Amino acid sequence: RIVYVNGEFLPEDAACLSVFDRGVLFADAVYEVTAVVDGGMVDFEAHQQRLCRSLAELGIDFDLRAAGLLELHRELIRRNALNEGLVYLQVSRGVADRSFLQPTTCQPSVVLFTQAQSLLETAATGTGLRVITQPDLRWHRRDIKTTQLLYPSMMKTLAVEQGADDVWMVEGGTVTEGSSSNAHIIRADGALVTRPTSPDILHGITRAAVLDYSRETGAAVIERPFTVAEAQQAREAFITSATAFVTPVVAVDGVAIGDGRPGPATHRIRSHYIQRSRERLQY
Ligand code: PMP
Repeated sequence: RIVYVNGEFLPEDAACLSVFDRGVLFADAVYEVTAVVDGGMVDFEAHQQRLCRSLAELGIDFDLRAAGLLELHRELIRRNALNEGLVYLQVSRGVADRSFLQPTTCQPSVVLFTQAQSLLETAATGTGLRVITQPDLRWHRRDIKTTQLLYPSMMKTLAVEQGADDVWMVEGGTVTEGSSSNAHIIRADGALVTRPTSPDILHGITRAAVLDYSRETGAAVIERPFTVAEAQQAREAFITSATAFVTPVVAVDGVAIGDGRPGPATHRIRSHYIQRSRERLQY
């Protein structure tokens, strides 16, 4: 695999980052994951805008325009002959002597790599995911897409150890989100219920696209927090993320959702999301 680090395209074994990089020492870094389908990128512009916001929230001084990120993404996809999978992009504050005080003069470090992966045809689309709930013990700025991912990684691992597929995290009695996805339910009356954007959750690009589509088709979209009990009584449930697209959830804490199989509305939303994404791929 060819990766990109600070101005150079290199074989992955030759690429390196300083041990003093603040991304390594403090998770002082933000990232984006962009899906690649048919060799083109899904929602590239929206990911760039969110990256810009994350950088601004952390006060990382990085000139997105000058960085030519679209070109770097294209070039990396080309060099790795990537047809389906993802591009991971990370920008850290940069290298400085270890100190809790953020340095003011620092050159941000930029890393990009690709990962080949099936996104369109996945086992989870057919079987659905079983999730367990766990308390959301992350910090309170989940709207900033930082690389501080220890807790969600621990919770994902715990879920798999317990025979499930993932977690839905819960705070104050309501579901916040999955370990790396937004959580949604479809009520018995067909309304889509999902948590509103706030610092409590990541403002998912896939979430926004799915809400737009649902509103266009005339479906009721209710942005409010929902409880675990509501999820268990829902007709359908699903998650959204850049790489999972729209994936059904069929059980929450061992309680089947609907008939325990992926539902038709989730299937429709997934198909539409994929179709729409393929119609406007960024090459
Ligand atoms: N929430 C969390 C915590 C995530 O890590 C992700 C995926 N990065 C999402 C939601 C989904 O966001 P997106 O649709 O932009 O991938």
